[in-house]
Amino acid sequence: MNRLLVTFSVCFSTFLGALLLSNSAHAMKIAVSLPPLAGIIAPLLGEDDSIEVILKSGRSPHAFHLKPSHLRMLEKSDIAVTAGFGVDAWLDKALNTYKGTHINMADISTMRLYSVRKGGVWESVAPHKHTEVDSLDSGIDPHLWTAASNALELVIAVSDEMIRLAPEQKEVISERRDSWLARIKRVDHEVFMALNPVNRTPYIVLHDAFQYFEKRYMMTSAGSISLNPEQTPSLKRVFALRERIEKSNIRCVFKEPQFSSKRVQPVVEDLNVRIGELDPMGTTYSDESSGPGYVLYDVFLKRNAMQFVGCLTIDKVL
Ligand SMILES: [Zn+2]
Repeated sequence: MNRLLVTFSVCFSTFLGALLLSNSAHAMKIAVSLPPLAGIIAPLLGEDDSIEVILKSGRSPHAFHLKPSHLRMLEKSDIAVTAGFGVDAWLDKALNTYKGTHINMADISTMRLYSVRKGGVWESVAPHKHTEVDSLDSGIDPHLWTAASNALELVIAVSDEMIRLAPEQKEVISERRDSWLARIKRVDHEVFMALNPVNRTPYIVLHDAFQYFEKRYMMTSAGSISLNPEQTPSLKRVFALRERIEKSNIRCVFKEPQFSSKRVQPVVEDLNVRIGELDPMGTTYSDESSGPGYVLYDVFLKRNAMQFVGCLTIDKVL
């Protein structure tokens, strides 16, 4: 009888322990620096898991400062995900003492990396000393998430870490990962096909946030208005860009929702060119598939592609 009781209580406490363990492992919390990173990772999460975006909708990562509430958000998470190369450097200091796992896109060995575009149409015509905030140290363009191939690598890295933290959920996480990878690959192909008819038409972007996207789909970008989106372009640069628009038959100039359209207006005024809008954060594309403060990555890709198609298609009357 005594023995039975002992066995029972051992069993029961083991059961309780397992229950507690599976519960704590089950609710995984992920904090990401930028909205598009959440859009890449969210489909890996289960019902009880959660994801929080530190950079709120409508904000640009290029001029952002952390508040105590952001630090608390970070501290509570099991995994923190950043893009790296300076675009979310405002998290670097807090991550030095971070107890969870930090996944930095820039450090994933399979990530495709491009240098910041300089020279020719990417260089300011007037020699200047401003450095793009993004790439102060590395010289690498930090907008890694705009290429589907890089998004796929992040999905794999985060799912591997989730499985390491919750090995009992390996199967279900792997299933979610595989169907999400397949979905991104499908949309990547659709976007490639949709952009094919317009990918030789030149355009100018507000700031060089889409290099990875453009190279993936072989687009013909002719330059950017400002090297640093926080700075108003100089008069000299505005004139040089206007000349380029006329001479190179630029069809479209893309602004971004995170920046005032005042940056674009002087460049395009009275010229035969359309104004389009691209959203490197994706937050203006929110629909029913979105979580708070972000949009799923397939929507991010499609909507940016639609903006390109809409602005670059020739049959519209200018
Ligand atoms: Zn940027």
